[in-house]
Amino acid sequence: MEVQIEDETLEFLLHACKSTHPDEFAGFLREQKGVITEILLVPGTIFGKTGSIVNYWNLPIDSSVSGTAHSHPSANVTPSPSDLRFFSVFGKYHAIIGFPYTEQSIQFYARDGSRLSHKVVTW
Ligand SMILES: [Zn+2]
Repeated sequence: MEVQIEDETLEFLLHACKSTHPDEFAGFLREQKGVITEILLVPGTIFGKTGSIVNYWNLPIDSSVSGTAHSHPSANVTPSPSDLRFFSVFGKYHAIIGFPYTEQSIQFYARDGSRLSHKVVTW
């Protein structure tokens, strides 16, 4: 499986990570016809070094939400044990974006934590 993300959506996501740094950014990914075209910001989320992922549970999740994205203010995009636990229960894929938040620093993971390649597309 290859994840497809729209170029402008990726740009928005990277920008959101940069603006939130050094805190952690977190949001949902929404797809249309198999392409990620929207980042949903989580209202009321407290971004912080302790991790914002738990706040996902406070949101109603509809079927167009296909996964999550969060940043790692370190350059390390390896999922933490709690990331992996979260990945396994929700969504089709999950992105981790490491510092310095460029197109090269984004990594998608499947529910089982395996790495997925991605392709940037124009929507
Ligand atoms: Zn994480």
